[in-house]
Amino acid sequence: MKQRFDAVVVGAGPAGCACGYTLAKAGLEVLVVERGKFAGAKNMWGGVFYGPTLNQLFPQFWQEAPVERYVARHRFSLLTPDACLSAEFTTKKFTQPPYNGFTALRSKFDRWFASKVEQAGAIVATGLQVDDLLWDGNQITGIKAGGDELPASVVVACDGVNSVLAGKAGLRSKLQPRDMKLGIKEVIQLPRQLIEQRFNLVGDEGIAWEFIGSFSRGLPGGAFIYSNKESLSVGIAVQLSALTENQIKANDLLEEFKQHPAVADLLAEGKLVEYSAHLIPVSGMAMMPTLYTNGLLVAGDAAALILGTGLTLEGANFAVASGIAAAETVIRAKQAGDFSKKSLSYYPELLRESFVLKDLETFRKAPHFLENLRIYSLYPELACDLAEKVFTNDGTPRKKTWELFRQAMDGRVSLWQIARDLMQVKGAI
Ligand SMILES: Cc1cc2nc3c(=O)[nH]c(=O)nc-3n(C[C@H](O)[C@H](O)[C@H](O)COP(=O)(O)OP(=O)(O)OC[C@H]3O[C@@H](n4cnc5c(N)ncnc54)[C@H](O)[C@@H]3O)c2cc1C
Repeated sequence: MKQRFDAVVVGAGPAGCACGYTLAKAGLEVLVVERGKFAGAKNMWGGVFYGPTLNQLFPQFWQEAPVERYVARHRFSLLTPDACLSAEFTTKKFTQPPYNGFTALRSKFDRWFASKVEQAGAIVATGLQVDDLLWDGNQITGIKAGGDELPASVVVACDGVNSVLAGKAGLRSKLQPRDMKLGIKEVIQLPRQLIEQRFNLVGDEGIAWEFIGSFSRGLPGGAFIYSNKESLSVGIAVQLSALTENQIKANDLLEEFKQHPAVADLLAEGKLVEYSAHLIPVSGMAMMPTLYTNGLLVAGDAAALILGTGLTLEGANFAVASGIAAAETVIRAKQAGDFSKKSLSYYPELLRESFVLKDLETFRKAPHFLENLRIYSLYPELACDLAEKVFTNDGTPRKKTWELFRQAMDGRVSLWQIARDLMQVKGAI
């Protein structure tokens, strides 16, 4: 007779590992199935991870987890083809435990996380793809993988943005290109000393640097540079529908970004050691699937639990928090001996009590706001033009800043339009 697991967790990314770990710690029989050769083998993110939820699972996790640097500097820049206007935030608080955010590389981070799941008593089966669900009437009762049937009281789908399982369970409709960004990223190796000199970092300090502007050719999207110990994570994320409608290759935009005068010198002498591409579900509540049904819960990217405000993109911490909430729901269901939809409805209740659904609700209008194309071309140009006018000294009499602003705006945008866009900012982020 085949072993029947209390839970099968599909996917060993941050959601699946957090879920598997919490379940195993509570003494449940857990199988985590991961299609990659090892956890993190093919996974990618930009690379800034916010830690409070992981810290609940592993207090002071940064002492043992393979994090690269703690984020001491947040910088945001607007680019035109030859100019760059930046704002930077740094505070002593972010340089001290418990820190605020960390940079990390998935191949090391997920592998570490999955090893903690195993240590807690779960079985982590890698190199195994889940193909389908098992059903008994309208109750999901396990998975099919590699020609085998693996029965379980409950399945937790942590299988990422393209969640085949949420689709097979009928919980979500086809993904729309407008709801997705295509992210591509290069890891560029550089000596530690050069990184610290170029980005003004000391010791394990790191920088998270976000960009919008000319490189995206007016399409909704941005770029980033995150510093690791001995490499930089450099990438862009652009709305998928805009790329296809305009027949623009994301890689061309990344190359344009890397060649920008404010960026090229920072990457000089670097060696490309990794290239990856991945989709990001960015429409928040508007694209969220149904989160549970009889015998199944959906967590992390599979449930589109990602927050993008234009200033930060957070998905991994939402994945960890939803993985834990899914596990707590399963533990409660096991105690009650009831894995029906009614019993699993505790899951969205937990998400609503935590930052996960609260934040997505607060920023409900952000995805629509971030489709305003003026953000990506007109406003960076306006801001850089104004800065150039303010700082130019050509020996002629100076004008007041307000007059320079009116000059920069002239014929490009009305004050009325700017006021309307500012009202949108107020409502969205
Ligand atoms: C370009 C880019 C930049 C990003 N930057 C950031 C950032 O800086 N900070 C941040 O917090 N978030 C960022 N994110 C988002 C973040 O990566 C995700 O939100 C997070 O990884 C979601 O975790 P997850 O466990 O839900 O899914 P994933 O990390 O996608 O893990 C899913 C796992 O399931 C496995 N799997 C899938 N299907 C099957 C199957 N059928 N059988 C078995 N296994 C399967 C996959 O191999 C994978 O390991 C970024 C994403 C991208 C693409």
